[in-house]
Amino acid sequence: KKMVYYFGGGKAEGRADMKLLLGGKGANLAEMTNLGLPVPPGITITTEVCREYYALGKQFPEGMWEQVLEGLKKIEDEMGKKFGDKENPLLVSVRSGAPVSMPGMMDTILNLGLNDETVEGLAKSTGNERFAWDSYRRFIQMFGNVVMGIPHDKFEHILEEKKREVGAKQDVDLTAEDLKDIVEKYKELVKKETGKDFPQDPYEQLRMAIRAVFDSWNNPRAIKYREIHNIPEDYGTAVNIVAMVFGNMGDTSGTGVAFTRNPSTGENEFYGEYLKNAQGEDVVAGIRTPQPLTKSQKTSEGQTSLEEEFPEVYKQLLEVREILEKHYRDMQDIEFTIENGRLWMLQTRAGKRTARAAVKIAVDMVKEGLITKEEAIMRVDPLLINQLLHPMIDEEDRKRAIAEGRLIAKGLPAAPGAVSGKVVFNADDAVELAEKGEKVILVRHETSPEDIHGMHAAEGILTARGGMTSHAAVVARGMGKTCIAGAESIQIDYDKKEFRVGDVVVKEGEVITIDGSTGEIFHGEVKTIPAHISGEFEELMKWADEIRDMQVRVNADTPEDARQGREFGAEGIGLCRTEHMFFKEERIPVVREMILAKTPEERKRALEKLLPMQRADFIAIFEAMNGLPVNIRLLDPPLHEFLPRTEEEFERTAKEMGLPVEEVKKRAEELQEVNPMLGLRGSRLGIVYPEIYEMQVRAILEAACHCKKNGIEVFPEIMLPLIADDKELAELKKLIDKVAAEVFLETGVEVPYQVGTMVEIPRAALIADKLARYAEYFSFGTNDLTQMAFGLSRDDAGKFIGEYIERGILEGDPFVHIDESGVGELIRIAIEKGNKVREGIKTGICGEHGGDPRSIDFFQKVGVKYISPSPFRVPIARLAAAQAKI
Ligand code: ADP
Ligand code: MG
Ligand code: MG
Repeated sequence: KKMVYYFGGGKAEGRADMKLLLGGKGANLAEMTNLGLPVPPGITITTEVCREYYALGKQFPEGMWEQVLEGLKKIEDEMGKKFGDKENPLLVSVRSGAPVSMPGMMDTILNLGLNDETVEGLAKSTGNERFAWDSYRRFIQMFGNVVMGIPHDKFEHILEEKKREVGAKQDVDLTAEDLKDIVEKYKELVKKETGKDFPQDPYEQLRMAIRAVFDSWNNPRAIKYREIHNIPEDYGTAVNIVAMVFGNMGDTSGTGVAFTRNPSTGENEFYGEYLKNAQGEDVVAGIRTPQPLTKSQKTSEGQTSLEEEFPEVYKQLLEVREILEKHYRDMQDIEFTIENGRLWMLQTRAGKRTARAAVKIAVDMVKEGLITKEEAIMRVDPLLINQLLHPMIDEEDRKRAIAEGRLIAKGLPAAPGAVSGKVVFNADDAVELAEKGEKVILVRHETSPEDIHGMHAAEGILTARGGMTSHAAVVARGMGKTCIAGAESIQIDYDKKEFRVGDVVVKEGEVITIDGSTGEIFHGEVKTIPAHISGEFEELMKWADEIRDMQVRVNADTPEDARQGREFGAEGIGLCRTEHMFFKEERIPVVREMILAKTPEERKRALEKLLPMQRADFIAIFEAMNGLPVNIRLLDPPLHEFLPRTEEEFERTAKEMGLPVEEVKKRAEELQEVNPMLGLRGSRLGIVYPEIYEMQVRAILEAACHCKKNGIEVFPEIMLPLIADDKELAELKKLIDKVAAEVFLETGVEVPYQVGTMVEIPRAALIADKLARYAEYFSFGTNDLTQMAFGLSRDDAGKFIGEYIERGILEGDPFVHIDESGVGELIRIAIEKGNKVREGIKTGICGEHGGDPRSIDFFQKVGVKYISPSPFRVPIARLAAAQAKI
């Protein structure tokens, strides 16, 4: 069986698409060799061998060593050197390489093959004694650490001691004599630490190193990393054995890393750094400060770029860059070494990049003819786009703040963006301070619908309790506000108006900075940089729009949200909730009056006061969405949410209604429910108190007629929440049509309108054919549908869902990614049944899942017609919908 693949002399046995067998590094080394790039010869032991090694109880499979020796022979021939030779020794590096890049695995060993004899040979054959001994001391250090497990510090200590002794500032100032002495001390250290001499036989060294690479697949760091990133256990790692080329031969040598484009901005410019007279790891390890690759990258006079120092090599690198980008059709991250003015390539892979760079590179590459629009769309992670829509913390200032000890706590990154503001502890204070033009951050144990006005006024929200789908988190995401939820370590004292973390006390009015993308909470101000929506971003979005089938609407309760959503490309409102309109400061007394009314007459009186207010709300929203459909949901929450709670509220309501306080309290008590989420709410309100829905429908349609008169195009859709039975729907549809006829008669204007239903109770999904007789469209309220399908309260699940996921009972949070087999199946059934009765029935998603790429992919499969996320998720949904189509 073939266990070892050779590359060298312009030809390789492997290819880039053999990553699973050869690991990422090995496959790309082979590919670069075949491209004719200057890669030192080498061999790759396959990942299959690694798997067999473990199957055999950590033993090399039969025949492997012989194949390694054969490969080594080819490397020797290609290099004209011999492994272990006393005159002109071949040295190699031993590098791990899994199918996916995996930090946490074994570090690379360089200069393998050196011993007390070959080091002399290396010195003679190169005429460079210092270089030979430098390589030897590096080798003992790396091998001693990585293979023999001797702590790195112990080597560093010896090195530092010597530098101090001879007054050397940097490693490069040490002479050959100094280095010889260090090697002696290193060998003593190895003997002391392991009880054995440093292995002198190069073949023994090689066997030990290969074994160490295989073993590193199962070190705790690697296991943890695989767990977090869902990398299969049985991938195994390959081992690359590569002929050494030397960047540490003096001032005509060096080593560096580069990106074929700027990984942070995406600019089409060569970007990287290098170190003269250095080997591999020195650049990343920060032993000396590296120099820039290009002239334009220099930031100070003292720097010298590779472009100036090695103009020939630079020219060659530019060609390599060109070849690699053309070939891989993606931005590459490369490693190279210069040995006596000669360029060698040691690695290439797709480079990591910021969201901004990802978008720019994808769009640029389409224009350069390297990739298709579809490929460009697939290359950008929709969730990363979030980064482009919100301000971010300035990284330099963040580091400074951390150094000053101002990072005081961490919570859940519930809604992205970074903001600074003065701390307040209740919604009213937030409004008051915001009206004075201050930026505020609302800090609460948790939030409730009564805090909405404060959340609106605040720049950001910080809660001590609750999860990613808590009220604070959901509402903040909807509003596009920054939010950190569940910062358990902060202790809030509402009375003293302060919060504590350990012994830090933050009082009302003091400034904090929160980063909703990371969950970090800082005391004081940390600089932020504004959202960057570049031209390329817009362009990519346009392509996505051309490709996708699903419409993208927006969930918007206010004209501001509607405008924001529209600006981000929404094609209508998928869900306009009316309850928030009821919570406004000046309306709440009237709303309470309506709820606490005993007779229909009393109720009508209150509703008459609410009608003009509601009408005004809808006019503003229709204006904002001129020409686009607006789906309005009639009142949904349990009435008890609106009830007065405090003594003061009761007194005010009583006065307003002209009733004794005792009477008001009695009525409020009657409305209390044991389980309000399953109580008198949704369309049940419309059945029991038809006056409420009548008023709302009237307000919607009067607003629509008014707008139409003023030349605004309106397409109102009126939606009934929490329908469980077709008879509810039939009755309420009749009510809506009756009011519509009245309004059209009164105003002399007619507008097209549709009546639809939420599908959020499992029963509704199962009788969707019956519902479709009355409903012109379905909107899946996937939050409630998930809640009711699982019998799981979204507000309480946070306490135990983590454990469910950890134990593998749940695959993920069903409130984040749609549960395909259960909730998804209900959606599929409803669409199928709905279509039987009403062909091509319009179907949409208005839950949080409408902004989740993974769920969007599923919605495409089952034929959903539109998705409707919160405003700031609209661009994400547009891109994800295009990806779902491709
Ligand atoms: P990592 O995966 O941590 O980057 P690598 O195997 O790429 O590890 O190697 C670490 C460093 O050693 C890199 O800078 C690489 O370029 C350098 N290196 C690896 N093999 C050789 C070699 N044969 N000759 C010179 N430098 C090498
Ligand atoms: Mg590398
Ligand atoms: Mg609902």
